[in-house]
Amino acid sequence: MPTIACPQCGQEVRVFLIESRYEGPLRCAQCKGLFRVTIEGSKLKEWQPMTEEELKAAQEVEALKAKFRRTPKED
Ligand SMILES: [Zn+2]
Repeated sequence: MPTIACPQCGQEVRVFLIESRYEGPLRCAQCKGLFRVTIEGSKLKEWQPMTEEELKAAQEVEALKAKFRRTPKED
């Protein structure tokens, strides 16, 4: 399982990569830092700080997507 060094404190954070590229939220258990990251081939490519509000919004979008995936298309 790949680990990514936290951009804020350097703590190794485990990431569960389904694909070789990951773009989304990452939370560090040590400094509680929250970041929006892009990981490619187990390497941290880009990151930017993320607020709890942004995380919540992102999670709502993901929940909506999951809902749409479960619902058969009606057309
Ligand atoms: Zn950290």
